[in-house]
Amino acid sequence: MFFSNTHTSLVDIKVGHLCQLSQGCDTFFFLLPMPSKKSASDMEENIEKGCNIASLLDLPESTLDFILKLLSPIELCSMSEVCTSLRDRSQSDHLWEEHMKRKWVKVVGDVAYKEWQWHVTAAKEGNFLNQRIDHYGSLGSFTGIWPTLYLGSYLEDCRILEGQRSNKFMMTLYLSLESGRFWFPAQVYKGLMIHHALVSYDTKSNTFQARHQTGGWRNLGTNIEWDMVRVPTVGTPPYALHVSDCLDNLKPGDHIEIQWKGTSTTPTYDWWYAVIGHLESCSENVLYCQCHHSGSLIVEFKQYPQGSYMRRIQLSRKNGEQGDNVGGYYGGIRKLHSEEEIETWQKLFPAHVQRAPILHYMPPVPAQLPIP
Ligand SMILES: [Zn+2]
Repeated sequence: MFFSNTHTSLVDIKVGHLCQLSQGCDTFFFLLPMPSKKSASDMEENIEKGCNIASLLDLPESTLDFILKLLSPIELCSMSEVCTSLRDRSQSDHLWEEHMKRKWVKVVGDVAYKEWQWHVTAAKEGNFLNQRIDHYGSLGSFTGIWPTLYLGSYLEDCRILEGQRSNKFMMTLYLSLESGRFWFPAQVYKGLMIHHALVSYDTKSNTFQARHQTGGWRNLGTNIEWDMVRVPTVGTPPYALHVSDCLDNLKPGDHIEIQWKGTSTTPTYDWWYAVIGHLESCSENVLYCQCHHSGSLIVEFKQYPQGSYMRRIQLSRKNGEQGDNVGGYYGGIRKLHSEEEIETWQKLFPAHVQRAPILHYMPPVPAQLPIP
């Protein structure tokens, strides 16, 4: 790898190789961990040539930090085994935060960070002494029986947070995610719904497995691709009713997600994709449509075929749970503004629905309005 800036240039930064750093008029060579025989002989050769040989730690603070920022997570782990000083630098939060953003930003959100903070705090307070499955459930080793979770996450093996490592928030989080030991809260597209789930990464297949709460923590799927997992889009917990702020402005053609659960005793809501439709009494002519002024809201699930009882429902335009044990219970609504989100949903539609045009509501322009 080559890079340069106005003050320095560095050649071949790969860990385990001889590195050449030019700074001003001086040229330095230094050896990163795990040197090969060739690198060592190169170094000897350069000593004979009279070049400056410096320890990595002799570099200016900013230069060393610049180098560390270019290392991969594996290389940072190797670097941290060299000496105490390099260990502390290689494990610092600001370096690992960058790797967290690079790899996990699409699936790990604020709620997962808060859960991790809980585990870190528990480790610091020594709550891991009584491991196995205690009444908090998420502490201790995974024994094959999925515990009843009081937390919204699960850490299979808490040894990563033992001792001083509990002070390395970002690194331990990254490594726990990478190893699949941290089951973090996320949302998973499955079928025609999105479910709240605990998700674990499988590094070999580069996919996820997920469990969701339906009476117990049941398997939701394995080999789940990256684009089928997302950060929870609202702060509302899975078991709580989402309070909508968009109800008064919803109009036919708007794309939404709506909370839904099958029965009143189902512990958590899932989210369903829908489009706002026209009232029965409306001709669907945009010139005369008054649906957006009605106290009722038509919610159309266009992913289901015409004639299906799942296709269309009329709700009141108000916050609060609506429905019954036959058709299920509907909760809060979230309006979709992102084309990317809408496209993700539409890719999940059955093929015959995908081919149907999605009608967008076009508000009338003044020239089209009827003359009073
Ligand atoms: Zn209408």
